[in-house]
Formats: sequence, C-alpha cells, structure tokens
Amino acid sequence: MSLPNALPPDLLRALRDKTETLWVNDRYQPRAQGDFEGAETMQQAAARLQRHADVMARIFPELREAAGQVQSPLLPLAQLQAELDTRQGAAGTWYLKCDHALPVAGSVKARGGFHEVLSFAERLLDAHAAKTGDAVPALDSAEARALFSTYTVAVGSTGNLGLGIGTISAALGFRAVVHMSSDAKQWKKDRLRANGTDVVEHAGDYARAVDAGRQLADSDPHAYFVDDEQSEALFLGYAVAADELAAQLHAAGRSVDAAHPLFVYLPCGVGGAPGGIAYGLKQRFGEFVHCVFAEPVASPCMLVQLASGSDAPLSVYDIGLDNRTEADGLAVGLASPLVAPLMRDLLAGVFTVEDDRLFRDIHALATTENVLIEPSAAAGFSGPRWLTDTAAGLALLDRIGARAALPHATHVLWSTGGALVPQAEHDRFQARGLALSTAAAH
Ligand SMILES: *Cc1c(COP(=O)(O)O)cnc(C)c1O
Repeated sequence: MSLPNALPPDLLRALRDKTETLWVNDRYQPRAQGDFEGAETMQQAAARLQRHADVMARIFPELREAAGQVQSPLLPLAQLQAELDTRQGAAGTWYLKCDHALPVAGSVKARGGFHEVLSFAERLLDAHAAKTGDAVPALDSAEARALFSTYTVAVGSTGNLGLGIGTISAALGFRAVVHMSSDAKQWKKDRLRANGTDVVEHAGDYARAVDAGRQLADSDPHAYFVDDEQSEALFLGYAVAADELAAQLHAAGRSVDAAHPLFVYLPCGVGGAPGGIAYGLKQRFGEFVHCVFAEPVASPCMLVQLASGSDAPLSVYDIGLDNRTEADGLAVGLASPLVAPLMRDLLAGVFTVEDDRLFRDIHALATTENVLIEPSAAAGFSGPRWLTDTAAGLALLDRIGARAALPHATHVLWSTGGALVPQAEHDRFQARGLALSTAAAH
C-alpha cells in the first residue's frame, strides 16, 4: 500500500473533508490513445455484438425493433441546460447520452456485459464443435442451451452489472450467480431472483463480493467469472459505445474537431465502463475529445489512484473515506488495476460530487426533460461548470487549447442507469430531490 501522502496536501484535505473537488490530470496528453494491449480490439468487440444481433433480437423481445442492437438515444438537453448551465449556452451545447435507457439491462453495463457473455458462449461452442467434429451450433439452438446449462456464469456487483450479466446469462441457458455487496439495493436482488438468478449476499463492500465470487468460481471448472476489476472483454464491449456516439453526433450535425471540441462526463465506479468508453472515444476522436470522470465524495477511487501517481493500489479507505454513498453504482473503494493505468494519460480529470447534488440533479432532469434516472447516473452533470467556472478548469482548457472554441463545444453528460428502477424508488428519489432543491432555494 502506498501512503496517502503520495497525494498533494490540499487535495488530500479536500477529499477527506468530502468537499467537492476537481482534480486536473497533469499527465493528460490529448493525443494519447491509451496503450491497451489485449487479445482483441474494440473492432472485434463491435463485430461480435453485430454477429449476434439476430439472436439477441430473438431472445429479447425489447430488442426486436432495434434488430438486436443494444443502443441508447442521444438527447438534446435544451431545458436542463437552461436550468443548470451557468454560461447559458455561451460555452457550448449539452446532450444526454441515455445509457440509463439501454434495453434489457437498463444501465451502461449492457454493452460490456453482453459482449463478455457472448464471447464466453462463442468459446464454449467452438470448443464443443472441435470435439464433436460437427458444425458450430447456433447460439440459441437446443444443443447450445444443453451445453450452457452445465456452466455457471458468476459475477460480483453492486447491482447493475449483476442485472446485465444475470439477465443475458439466464436467457442463453447458463446458470447465473451474482455476488452482491451489502449496499446493493433490495429491488435489484429481488429482480434477479425473479429472473432465476442466484443472488449471494456478502457482508462488506463491492470488492469483497467480487473477491468471494472469484474464489468460488476458481474452484469450479464449469464456472466462468466475469471479473469487473480485470476484464478486457467488458472493457472492449464498453468501448463500442464510441462508434454509436460518433454516428449520433454526426446525425445531429455536431462536428468534432479543433474548432468544435467534445467534452464527455462519465460517472465512475471501478472504472471499467467509463474507462472503456473513454478509450473508445480517444480511438475515434483523438485529441478533439476530452473525458472527465465523476465520483461520489465518499468513493473517489479513480481520482485517488491516478492522483497518487503510482500503480500501487491506493483505496479510498486508505485516505480515511468510508465509501458510503447513495450512488450504489459508484460505491467502489479501489479502482480497477486494468483500467487505472490506461487512464493515466488519456483522462483530462476527475471531479467529486455530493450525494445531495445527485438528487437535486435527477430532480432537475425529471422536471425539465421528463427523464427519470438513478442518482449514480447524474454524477457527471456538474462537469461543464467545473471546466468553465473554476480556475483549475479554465487552466486545463487553456493548456489543451480548447478555451477559444468553447462556444462551439459539445458537452455530453453520460447517463448510466435507471430504466429498470421501480416507480416507487423513482418516487422516493424525486421526493428527496424536490425537498433538497426547495431547501437550496431558500
Ligand atoms: C457501474 C455503473 C457505473 C460505472 O461503471 P464502472 O465500470 O463501475 O466504473 C456508473 N453508473 C452506473 C449506474 C453503474 O451501474
């Protein structure tokens, strides 16, 4: 373990006090593309999702209309921007990338999770065909299901990854086991159990649930563990979102170039989803896209890891934080050791956000745009303000040469979860957001 004094004293104090903070990454190189050297590429991941789109449309009726594509809308945010943008449009135009509405999984976890389970299923079928000498069976054939039923797909999760992996695994015929942390929401456990997934609850946090799941799966040759802290298949599946966003920005007439920079604000838990997306965006848009992560004040694991300047693991507990937040999707104490090093030179910065602000912002989104999301999904909403209204943000814009182009910038707030949240939960979230907003107005 590194010592917390690896962090600058002012930063450490702000983090310990849970004061909302922007950390600007001195090592950020706008032209860096991340030196990811995996067994596959994001193009292969995109091709895999494409290859199985027909099967996905057959097993999930909600994907039929989209021909099996797991995609989400890009929504202009004129009303929300009028409410929250301190610059009132003078610093660019806001959009919402609606991954809260991704079909089947209802969260950003869909692309990565589906990609990983599909790639495991392919490997099993290929090995099976090599053994029998027959053709590779179709993914949704009776033969494939019979094979899959002898395997368990396991995952550790604060909730949404479990929902994604559990749902597709069960639909393909696997036995699914989701190891959940004590902070996972009850409705997520209930929903998984109703889908036929085994839910194992662990006292302790997300890392404990992942570790327990990994150990159980290791001891069973017919178990496959989706490792949220280490998985390349998840990472590349998330990266595929970049192509989708590129097509949507193009369709909306939004250029991305030196005169039209793109800023993307991504809620970060362990780092896999935002890291994969940031990596994909860098491959796609190079020096013209700038990614910023957002984390709860109690769980800034990526901020702490990157600001330490070292690959030696440093957790939020190590600096005296408790990792307790209402943003359950982001309640992670230690950043992914796969993703953190990749972000070292391709991430512009990380900011923290108080839970109360998350509730105010989901309430603002509901009242202005009539869109309901979960608290974690609003973590990035103060991103534009951090960049354009603080000395640190403006210094960053100057360093990357993006300040003059701000009026033509596109800001994408990445919304990461919410479509499966029961109405009663939304009602509670909104009531709390309303109460906080009313209190703040007085
Ligand atoms: C998982 C999750 C994230 C972040 O993804 P990580 O891979 O954990 O960083 C963000 N928002 C929601 C709603 C999530 O479920």
